[in-house]
Amino acid sequence: MQISQIASHYDVVVVGGGMVGASFACALDYSLNSKTHGQNCQQREISILVVEAFKLSSEQTDFQPSFDARTTALSYGSSNIFQSFGLWQSCADTVTEISEIHVSDRGHFGRTQLSCQQLQMDALGFVIENRTLGRVLNQAMASAAGIGLLSPAKVKSIKPRPQGMELELDIGSTCQIVQAGLVVLADGGKSPICQQLGIVNTVERYQQSAIISNIAFSKPHNNTAYERFTDSGPLAVLPLAKQNGENRGALVWTVPEGEAKSLLEKDDGQLLALLQQMFGFRLGRISRIGERFCYPLILSTAKEQVRPGLVLLGNVAHTLHPVAGQGMNLALRDIDTLVRILSQAHSENKSLGSISVLQQYLNQQSKDQSNTINFTHYMTRLFSSNQLGLVWARKFGLFSIDLVPALKQKFARQAMGLADR
Ligand SMILES: Cc1cc2nc3c(=O)[nH]c(=O)nc-3n(C[C@H](O)[C@H](O)[C@H](O)COP(=O)(O)OP(=O)(O)OC[C@H]3O[C@@H](n4cnc5c(N)ncnc54)[C@H](O)[C@@H]3O)c2cc1C
Repeated sequence: MQISQIASHYDVVVVGGGMVGASFACALDYSLNSKTHGQNCQQREISILVVEAFKLSSEQTDFQPSFDARTTALSYGSSNIFQSFGLWQSCADTVTEISEIHVSDRGHFGRTQLSCQQLQMDALGFVIENRTLGRVLNQAMASAAGIGLLSPAKVKSIKPRPQGMELELDIGSTCQIVQAGLVVLADGGKSPICQQLGIVNTVERYQQSAIISNIAFSKPHNNTAYERFTDSGPLAVLPLAKQNGENRGALVWTVPEGEAKSLLEKDDGQLLALLQQMFGFRLGRISRIGERFCYPLILSTAKEQVRPGLVLLGNVAHTLHPVAGQGMNLALRDIDTLVRILSQAHSENKSLGSISVLQQYLNQQSKDQSNTINFTHYMTRLFSSNQLGLVWARKFGLFSIDLVPALKQKFARQAMGLADR
């Protein structure tokens, strides 16, 4: 709930109430606090403070960068994680199911198709608009008695102290000092706090940008997500619910950095013609394109994710290329593991900020993190090149995936966020 009085100490302070910070706070509160309520157990509730620089609103009329015009493809595994924290029910009515994934390579033969029937699953994943996810998370945080919400407010600095961390908060015209047993840093990919703390990032620029927009087309999508690799970069169309009788999809179009500006400046007719040429006619005629937004694409990984009293989550820990839709899905698996380890530590009366507890989290998640980062990185490299060797490699790759059921299962498990689970 929104607070006006700030306590001097919290067990956990979450810096950033974006997609990852808000999901973590709800998951931790659900696991540690709502269970202690219901079972009349001896365990003490923990105090959680979420500090968000932008105004959080369950109406979502105000701008917040995490919950902007994008859509997110959530894996089947991610829906299970949201379910286990009591949040999926609120999302379920607004998501569009993905029952088939169609992967193709423009101008080449290779292609593969994955369906939930082949894999004997209810769905391969779900598409949710970021604004909708924002509304669900903000409502959940606002109604959770165990979460204190401070927004708009900014964390200016974090300093290590013998019993945890000290945070300096900038609340409009005043500054306030707060102590925390554990700080969860979820302030996104451009974190000045990380720099202040001397946490170094390894950054690889793809020299690509993602243009995102909603599009309308003449044929129904039949809940298929399309991933099409072109010589200039991958292009994805995710299925969205019909609106005013129009078939709709969410476009993520990766283009070379130098071309993004001129593409954004084209009028709708010119852009639609080019898009049609790149995507083909699988969805019939692409008739309309909405407002366009552009994101520079990088791979960034923090060299340290845990310190005594500190853990990094989400984009600040690892920012991935959106080609395979893995950034938020990986962050949710990180959250799931971290919350389980913190719950265990709490039940054993261990300090939540203890480095041995946080290191246990990192040890459990590091394989999943490196597999997901490598899968995304090499897919980006392989499918963004027109070098002859790489063209043959991907033709062969897609062909083999389609022919060999075990490979298809492996590819699907990674793409659905179920690998390593
Ligand atoms: C085009 C595109 C498409 C994508 N599609 C997918 C997809 O389909 N599937 C998927 O899994 N992932 C996808 N991703 C990745 C996903 O969007 C990210 O993983 C996710 O947004 C990371 O969220 P975050 O909360 O870590 O960071 P952010 O979204 O950047 O949020 C950080 C928050 O911290 C706040 N903040 C910053 N500094 C401070 C401070 N000092 N004090 C207080 N608050 C602060 C900010 O205001 C913000 O609200 C996509 C990414 C892009 C760019």
